[in-house]
Amino acid sequence: MVRNYIDGRWVDSTGRESVDIINPATEEVLDKCPLGTAEDVNRAVAAAQAAFPAWRQTPVIDRVQYLFKLKSLLEATFDEIVALNTAEHGKTLVESRGDVRRGIQMVETACGMPSLMMGQCSEDVAAGIDSMSVRQPMGVFAAITPFNFPAMVPFWFWPFAIASGNTFVLKPSERVPLTQVKIFGLLEKTGLPKGVMNLVAGSKDVVNALCTHPDVKGVSFVGSTPVAKHVYQTGTSHGKRVQALGGAKNFMVILPDAAMDTSISTCLESIIGCAGQRCLAGSVIISVGDCAKTVSDRIVRLASDVRIGNGADPQTHMGPVISRSSLERIHGLIQSAALDGAQILLDGRQTAGRGYFLKPTVIAGVTPKMRIAQEEIFGPVVCLANTDSLASAIQWINSSPFANTASLFTNSGAAARQFSYEAAPAMLGLNIGVPAPMAYYSFGGAKDSFFGDVKAHGAQGVLFFTDQKVTISRWKKNSNIW
Ligand code: NAD
Repeated sequence: MVRNYIDGRWVDSTGRESVDIINPATEEVLDKCPLGTAEDVNRAVAAAQAAFPAWRQTPVIDRVQYLFKLKSLLEATFDEIVALNTAEHGKTLVESRGDVRRGIQMVETACGMPSLMMGQCSEDVAAGIDSMSVRQPMGVFAAITPFNFPAMVPFWFWPFAIASGNTFVLKPSERVPLTQVKIFGLLEKTGLPKGVMNLVAGSKDVVNALCTHPDVKGVSFVGSTPVAKHVYQTGTSHGKRVQALGGAKNFMVILPDAAMDTSISTCLESIIGCAGQRCLAGSVIISVGDCAKTVSDRIVRLASDVRIGNGADPQTHMGPVISRSSLERIHGLIQSAALDGAQILLDGRQTAGRGYFLKPTVIAGVTPKMRIAQEEIFGPVVCLANTDSLASAIQWINSSPFANTASLFTNSGAAARQFSYEAAPAMLGLNIGVPAPMAYYSFGGAKDSFFGDVKAHGAQGVLFFTDQKVTISRWKKNSNIW
């Protein structure tokens, strides 16, 4: 049974119920995750609140030393974390390496906090009057994270939060908590003062307790749109800062002048990587003009060659989806597309044996009103569509309630500029399939893909975890000695 990490100790959850943590490739039960309670949250927040004054007063250059130590420990145990990540999530080893590496880059970036949180100062804003602004930590922050990046997504938040002087409570996904438990074991080895970082395992009761607790100053959330909205509304109505990153429906536009072979294989990788379970995964490929047949022929050929299997096998190209219910939901969406009049060019639904596997599926003739064109699939399903112009492709993209990412494949600078200027999603790719901002940029979509204003990690992460204080000063000379 997973335990909580509170006030520098591993303790049992007070929750009576639990869920199985299942390897989705083998259906083996790896462990159990307790469904924690408000009582667990109260204890963790109390520990974090008690640790805050001393942690805040610890010089920032000393605070980041714990992150430097953690970085070394993460490198030394990299392969173990990768294997665990693959076991509980199902993604391939290559994908898990990316997941963990991106997480480490967050730690590395947060090590720059001595410079990142520097304030500003002006002399003589009026005669003899100076003005200075500093960024101060605020207290206890919390993050609630999804199943699809067990290593990376929690790192989007807490290294920036604690390096800037706050204390923290993390609630990882109850479906994949083991990677974070392992990482907290490493954090413990850094000698980080007790109470600075806390982990509470669980599901919605823990989430609701964090969003309403009077001592939690802010909440970072990543997950599906309905829960993102709920967390945003609950947290803000309880006076907290909230950044809530939600679901997505991502479009990829191919113009006839694109480098066709590379563009098509890049689109396929975007759609089927991590078995389609990335918030930046492409979903609908819109071919503009006369390239539709080239795109569909090549996609079907490439998708037929994808080797599915246990992610722990280095020969595997694509692992399973996370759960049986997820698999059934995706099967239902594929069926809806057929009923709505789309053509299933490649049907990946027939797989035998254990594990929640779906082979890449390719559906052509997708139009904007179809359910499959509107809902997030979160599975390896390629939807093919076409339009007669870039303008109508952009119009389609902008009609979606989601606006996480979109990509354009072209050799035309003018088309690229039009796309960057007009497409609503807040993370765009130009000849890039998964435009994930690096740790030192900020991450987050728009519309129903993001609730809040200040985005995750990079400079905006520093703004989220700190508050500005301005001091304006005038000193009158009252001595002849100085
Ligand atoms: P989810 O919404 O089911 O769960 C996310 C978190 O919310 C988990 O920690 C879970 O315990 C908690 N939760 C679930 N139901 C809840 C409820 N009713 N009340 C309160 N808390 C609840 O999401 P998921 O299935 O784990 O992750 C997949 C989703 O996350 C996809 O929609 C994907 O697009 C999205 N996602 C978005 C981004 C982004 O940057 N926008 C990144 C990764 C994943």
